[in-house]
Amino acid sequence: MSHNTQLFINGVWRDSADRTTLDVTNPATGEVIGSVARATHADLDEALAAAAAGFTEWKRVSGFERYKALRRAADLLRERVDGIAKIMTEEQGKPLAESKVEIAITADILDWAGEEARRAYGRVIPARAGNVTQLAVKEPIGPVAAFTPWNFPMSQVVRKIAPALGAGCSVIVKAAEDTPASAAALVKALSDAGLPTGAINLVFGDPADISGYLIPHPIIRKISFTGSVPVGKKLAELAGRHMKRATMELGGHSPVIITEAVDVDGVAAMLAVAKFRNAGQVCVSPTRILVQESVYDEFVTSFVNQIRAIKVGNGLEAGVTMGPLVNARRQAAVEDLIAEAQQAGANVRIGGNRVENKGSFLQPTVLTEVDTSMRIMNEEPFGPVAMVQPFASLQEAVEEANRLPYGLAAFAFTNSVKAVAMLSDEVEAGMLTVNHLGLALPEVPFGGVKDSGYGVEGGIEAMDAYLSTKFLTHAV
Ligand code: NAD
Repeated sequence: MSHNTQLFINGVWRDSADRTTLDVTNPATGEVIGSVARATHADLDEALAAAAAGFTEWKRVSGFERYKALRRAADLLRERVDGIAKIMTEEQGKPLAESKVEIAITADILDWAGEEARRAYGRVIPARAGNVTQLAVKEPIGPVAAFTPWNFPMSQVVRKIAPALGAGCSVIVKAAEDTPASAAALVKALSDAGLPTGAINLVFGDPADISGYLIPHPIIRKISFTGSVPVGKKLAELAGRHMKRATMELGGHSPVIITEAVDVDGVAAMLAVAKFRNAGQVCVSPTRILVQESVYDEFVTSFVNQIRAIKVGNGLEAGVTMGPLVNARRQAAVEDLIAEAQQAGANVRIGGNRVENKGSFLQPTVLTEVDTSMRIMNEEPFGPVAMVQPFASLQEAVEEANRLPYGLAAFAFTNSVKAVAMLSDEVEAGMLTVNHLGLALPEVPFGGVKDSGYGVEGGIEAMDAYLSTKFLTHAV
């Protein structure tokens, strides 16, 4: 496997029409390690034509055969895990063990979507007259344009393309230019598994140019985007203008509500792992930690102590538990948020600085004495920083949890059944987990409300996003 990634159009890996490329950098070393082809409009036209022809062919393949192809691709990924994990760590930065987990989950999602492909049931609707039959049948919606980010360079791609392919749609994926080889490894597994030519196409280039070209195009029937709220709003607007169905998986600023009478050390240990996984570049990363006053000091001390055990470094090195941020731009953005908060009176309890003089590393950081006027308390930091605040009443904690326009994931730790019921009713989030952090499995729904977007990926809902309902009736 190489770090030089080409476009995959109409079943062929190839350079872009004008042979231009972008550099790919290892964020742990700052070195350029490869390149990625930069698609022109001529390339996109070919991808569109391929997706149209691929759709015509793939939608006629039975659900049972689609299932077999997706399962084969999953097995190929499992066989190739070691080589792909190394590439993923080199281009994205996450520790090797996290890359391996991501590839394993990608394979599981392919399995799940394959199995769901056999269950795209419609229904028979009882008619008012005896000679009439009424059916609601599910049809694949058509060619899909999927736009995916760099934080989970393979699993964010599969969350879109597996249910799309399972449903019988063809896909053009515009994956992240920072991490192209991981996306390419997934597409290669699918093509090696025997998908017909044109069913899956992979492009890279200028994100705004590509989305601006593909979304309005009449061949594309469905858009799916994962990324920031501002970009999501732009793409949703474009999709609306051209009457395209859309799924928007956008950012979050996840609250964690911790009440008294919990195992404070146990919760702190869990959060110290979850917060700094993937260097905090996770849309459901626990970020605003709200702790009941009576256990606040104990929690902060324990949380900071557990964080001392995190080993920051090159994800290829043994023992490293947190890698760099994906690029220098993200490093500077998170650093600015921390510095601004500090100037406004936040207390840095641990971290707050860059780590090495090469690569885009930041220390795992915890801020206290924060307030809602600080930018970091309002914008998704998307990095290795958590803010901890005390609360007096559960109602106050819920108000803070719901204060922001985001509504992706929320977490709580409590021994009170009454608190669980209250939080389940009142927290404005697409997902709430209590007393553990179990999210994003292939079989469970994943998605947000409010500015965090709309539509669901995962669970039996995942494939609905790529199906339309047709009503058929006949009289005899
Ligand atoms: P960004 O918004 O510029 O880019 C995020 C992703 O969207 C990238 O993969 C990028 O290629 C793509 N993108 C950007 N503009 C696009 C456009 N006009 N059309 C199509 N795709 C486009 O941000 P960034 O600096 O790369 O990342 C920072 C922010 O992105 C984070 O703060 C976070 O909010 C968000 N983000 C969210 C997720 C997620 O899982 N929800 C993942 C990555 C980034």
